[in-house]
Amino acid sequence: MNGIQDGVAVVTGGGSGIGRQSSLRFAEAGANVVVADINEEGGHETVEMITSDGGEATFVKTNVTDSDDVDAMVQTALDEYGGLDFAHNNAGIADEGTRLAEYDETQWDRMIDVNLKGVWRCLKAEIPEMIERGGGAIVNTSSVAGVSANGSAHYAASKHGVIGLTRRATVDYAEDGIRFNAVCPGVIDTPMVQQAGEDNSEEMDRITAGIPVGRLGEPQEIADTVVWLCSEDSSYVMGQPIIVDGGLLAQ
Ligand code: NAD
Repeated sequence: MNGIQDGVAVVTGGGSGIGRQSSLRFAEAGANVVVADINEEGGHETVEMITSDGGEATFVKTNVTDSDDVDAMVQTALDEYGGLDFAHNNAGIADEGTRLAEYDETQWDRMIDVNLKGVWRCLKAEIPEMIERGGGAIVNTSSVAGVSANGSAHYAASKHGVIGLTRRATVDYAEDGIRFNAVCPGVIDTPMVQQAGEDNSEEMDRITAGIPVGRLGEPQEIADTVVWLCSEDSSYVMGQPIIVDGGLLAQ
């Protein structure tokens, strides 16, 4: 894809699922990739997949709820590859499928801290470096739960919030040459969803039957959208929630 070659990308949640696939896709398109994840084993596996295929990647253990970790993640991009051009702020946790009043405050705080404030911490660290570089492109992972009532209340609130951050960042930093978009996956076949399927296979069958295309999405179908949103091929797409859901929300 145009404009990715020789760039530098950071991907949070790069040790599994969607983030792993976007790390692979960035590397295939010729970027140097900083794979960030709280899960060291998964992160190292992603790096191994990239480097064994001739690509360039580094793992940095990062908890997106810790500002020092997030700053160190961006610093790794600068130290290892000399700058930062692209970011996929993707690390997230799932909801547990319970109704609003059944969650306690600790569960609410954790969901918001990882899924929403985690994206904010990343943006705060990434934006100054992209301004320094003269521009860049950032994709934040939201969800169909960011634009509809899918998912539990606190998950939906966190993912709606990601779209708000994405829109406002666009308005604030378009003049600095930074583009921000959000990707809104439907139900994607990743460990997050596989776990839910193991916990309740009947519910998964019901969910799959409700997707017009009749199957779950593949992580690389999200990754392709993410890399496209960072490429020059999408140069006038700004501040948008891009829904990739097999027709789920078309109904
Ligand atoms: P996944 O569980 O396979 O991957 C999530 C990754 O994030 C894991 O490697 C995990 O270790 C990492 N992570 C979790 N908390 C972290 C933290 N505090 N700091 C750093 N890393 C952390 O799940 P996935 O399906 O690939 O999900 C990726 C993103 O996509 C999430 O934001 C999720 O909400 C979103 N999403 C997923 C689906 C889906 O159907 N799979 C749908 C919509 C949105």
